[in-house]
Amino acid sequence: MDKPMHTPLQQHDAQIADLIKKETARQKDGLEMIPSENHTSDAVLEALGSRLTDKYSEGYPGMRYYGGCEHVDAIETLARDRAKQLFGADHANVQAHSGCAANIAVYVALLDPGDTLMGLKLDHGGHMTHGLKVSVSGMYFNSIQYGCSKDGYIDLDEARALALAHRPKLIVVGGSAYARQYPWAEFRTIADEVGAFLLADMSHVAGLVAGGVHPNPVGIADVVTTTTHKTLRGPRGAIILSNGHPSTPLKRVERATENMPTLIDRAIIPGIQGGPHNHQTAAIAVALNEALQPAFTTYANQVIKNAKTLAEALMEHEYELMTGGTDTHLMLVDLTNKGVTGKQAERALGVSGITVNKNTIPHDPRKPFDPSGIRLGTPALTTRGMKEAEMKLIAGWIDRTISHHENENALKAIRREVEELCVQFPLHRGVYDVC
Ligand SMILES: *Cc1c(COP(=O)(O)O)cnc(C)c1O
Repeated sequence: MDKPMHTPLQQHDAQIADLIKKETARQKDGLEMIPSENHTSDAVLEALGSRLTDKYSEGYPGMRYYGGCEHVDAIETLARDRAKQLFGADHANVQAHSGCAANIAVYVALLDPGDTLMGLKLDHGGHMTHGLKVSVSGMYFNSIQYGCSKDGYIDLDEARALALAHRPKLIVVGGSAYARQYPWAEFRTIADEVGAFLLADMSHVAGLVAGGVHPNPVGIADVVTTTTHKTLRGPRGAIILSNGHPSTPLKRVERATENMPTLIDRAIIPGIQGGPHNHQTAAIAVALNEALQPAFTTYANQVIKNAKTLAEALMEHEYELMTGGTDTHLMLVDLTNKGVTGKQAERALGVSGITVNKNTIPHDPRKPFDPSGIRLGTPALTTRGMKEAEMKLIAGWIDRTISHHENENALKAIRREVEELCVQFPLHRGVYDVC
């Protein structure tokens, strides 16, 4: 490689540059309806693409194993303070590289290998890290799984009965395909009854919590984890929130709620990670500052208004929604009555320019790689400025796509209509905008 260090990517590595451009175009020209996705601001992208990625800074602000950390210290402190302010917590750890790492850190902090934890089943809307057998959460811990009732709501009676029977040390509440508000307080009661720690994983709804349109688990759960890249609209990453204050380094602490900040910080490093991703931390700080502005409350409200409008429009087209609707940014659609599988729907909608993901429904008779349902969400569309009128149009396109899922010409015609709408709601410029 004799190319100078300052060559733009396009000349330096055209293969990668072209693929990034293609992906940017795919996002711009289509409707991103995967509920765990969003579009970040240019400012977030700028922070993410900065020199901060070059810096090692193992440890925490003021207590690093490397020199030259004065600026990354200030950045991490700002990120932590903004997270604490936004969610009303005493302590925030912003170093977990992703949501999975955040959850694993909580287990390392609070459990010994072989201890019992209890979470929502993946195929009922939970997450792999909540005790799936093939995840570390199910391999190294004794995992008990609760589910949803036939109507799609979390089955609190089952969760309580399982907790009483198995006495888990930790209960996890949260998920990735649940359309209703998470019952944080109800799970607090169950956890107290069996003396378990409560972890609230608000990854999907953190932006709604920030905007004041979903109950906040901080102060109810002993510890709260969240990704930063879903409804919260930041870069990929995670935050772990708790109450209490970190203790002095090296002092032994009991596994108790008031020691959570120390337990979490030590679980992240040296427990499971090394150096923090400072570019990611800076971008998280930028996103948190965005979420602290009044405009973000408007955004969060609109995400829900859009989801409710889309849900109602789909139900008018005789789609069956789990729980009969939504309180959040997402909905889970059972396609059984339409004679189409989730996989077929995902493919056809992709051809129409509408990106969704196939998903199991609670008690799904089909297999996860070709399940009965799809999961739809409004966070990314709302970021682009779409409102109720667009949701009604989109419901019509979804219905036409599913009704004509084997007719490629019909799907291509829908795609042209989708692209016309997308032109009216441009993505922000971004570094690799193609226009
Ligand atoms: C997305 C998600 C995670 C994991 O996040 P990654 O950043 O993909 O590791 C964990 N828990 C829940 C509930 C999620 O939705």
